[in-house]
Amino acid sequence: MFQKYSADEPVPLLSEWTLDLLNSRSELAAWVDGFGSPLHVVCPDQATKNYLQWLKELQQVYWDCQIQFALKACKSASLLRAFAMAGAGADVSSAQEMTSAFMNLVPAARMSMTGPAKSNYEINLCLRHQVAIHIDCIEELKRVLALADAVGGVARLFLRSRPLSEPGSRFGMTEDQLIACLPLLEEAKVEQIGVSFHINDYEIQTRVEQMRFCIAFLRRISANGLTPGGIDIGGGYPVRYLERFDPVAYDRGVHWGSIAKPGNYPYARGLAGVHHAAEVIQTALADPSDLDFLHRHRLPILLQPGRSLLDQCGISAFDVIDVKDFGDGRFGVVLDGMSFSLSETWFGADFVPAPAILRREGRAVPQHNARYFLVGRSCLESDVIRWRGLTAEDGVAPGDLVIFTNTAGYQMDSNESSFHQIPLPKKAAAVRLPCGWKILADETPSKELLYDRQ
Ligand SMILES: *Cc1c(COP(=O)(O)O)cnc(C)c1O
Repeated sequence: MFQKYSADEPVPLLSEWTLDLLNSRSELAAWVDGFGSPLHVVCPDQATKNYLQWLKELQQVYWDCQIQFALKACKSASLLRAFAMAGAGADVSSAQEMTSAFMNLVPAARMSMTGPAKSNYEINLCLRHQVAIHIDCIEELKRVLALADAVGGVARLFLRSRPLSEPGSRFGMTEDQLIACLPLLEEAKVEQIGVSFHINDYEIQTRVEQMRFCIAFLRRISANGLTPGGIDIGGGYPVRYLERFDPVAYDRGVHWGSIAKPGNYPYARGLAGVHHAAEVIQTALADPSDLDFLHRHRLPILLQPGRSLLDQCGISAFDVIDVKDFGDGRFGVVLDGMSFSLSETWFGADFVPAPAILRREGRAVPQHNARYFLVGRSCLESDVIRWRGLTAEDGVAPGDLVIFTNTAGYQMDSNESSFHQIPLPKKAAAVRLPCGWKILADETPSKELLYDRQ
C-alpha cells in the first residue's frame, strides 16, 4: 500500500490501473530494480481506451473527425502503437518523429507534418510518402511547390493560420498572407488545400473564433476554384489532473527558497480533454450554413491532441537515495533521477499533483510537521523536483519509491538529458492481466502485438 495523501496536498485523480499498481508495491519496486530509477511506466491499454472514447464523443458532434496523436508529447513507442492500432494518425515535426510513426504502424495517409521549420529533405519525405504538409509561411510554400514540381505535385497541404488571439506569434500566417498564397496555389498541382491552426491557451472561445475564421477561408479557397481539404484545429486541450485546485492554499505551504511555484496550468478545468474539444467543434459549427459547406465538400475535421490523449497513460517512479536533515523540520529527499525527468520543473514550476510514496525496505521515523523537498541527484542547485515541501505522515526513508502519476503528457521525456553521462531513464509498458501484470520494454513491438492475457 502507498501512503495516504496528506490532507493539504493536491490529491491527483488516478486511473484504475494506476491505483492497482500503487497498491501492489512489489511489482512496481521490482520493475524499478530491473529497469533502473527513474522508471517511466506506460499503459498502452489506457491509450487505446482514450482514443476510442475521443472518437466516440467527437463523432457525436461531427461525422468525420480524425485524431492525430502529437508525438512530441511523449516518446513512447508502445503508446504510439496502441494509438495507431486503434486507428489514430500522427502529428510529426521532424524526420525522426516521422520514422517513429512509420515504425509504430501509423499509415502515411494519417500523418501530418506540422513542424514550423522543415528541411528540404523532410519536405521530400512528405511528398514521396504523401504525408500532409502544414505550411507555416509563404516562403515555405514556395519551397514546397518547387520541390513538388519534381515529383508531379502535392497530395495534401494545410495552410497554417496565425491565431487571431496571438497576433504576435511567429507561427502561421495572417489573413493577408493566406490570401497571398492563393495565386501560387492556383498555378500549382495540389490536390487538396486545408486550413489549420494551433493555439497555445486552453480556452474554448479562441478556438471557436479561429475555427470560424478557417471555415470562411476554406470557402474562399473553394470560390477560387481550388479543392478545399479540411480543417485542422490542432491540439492544446487541457487535462484534468486534480478534482480541485486552490493555488492560494498551494502557496501557503512551505517552499524551497520560500517561493511557491504552482505555474499556470489549469489543473482542475471542469471541461477537459475530449469534452473540451467537442465543445469547441459544436460551438464553432452553430451556423447551419457552415455545417452544410463542410458536408457538401465532405471535409474532415482533424485534431492533434498530445497531452490530453495521454491522460492517465503513464507514471514516473523514483527511488529515494538519501533523506538529508536540513534542520527546522526540513528534509531533502534525494531522488535517484533528475528534474529533467519531470518537465514542468523546466518551466520554473512544480508539477502540482502530489506524488505518492511507497514504502519498501526502509524504516522512516515519522516527524511531526516535517516537510520533504524532493531534489535530483545532479550537482545543480536548481535540480529541484518539487519546490513545495511534501507532508508525509509516515515519513520518507531511503529505499522508498516516490511516484508521480499521470506523467505521460510531456512530463516524462520532453526535457530529458543524459547530464553527468547518466543514461536516459527507461520506459516500460505495463499490461494488466486478470491476475497480475505483464511488463515489457516500451520499444518491444513483437511481443506486445501478441499480448497473451492469461
Ligand atoms: C504541440 C502541438 C500539438 C499538441 O499540443 P498538446 O497541447 O499536447 O495537445 C498539436 N499541434 C501542434 C502544431 C503543436 O505544436
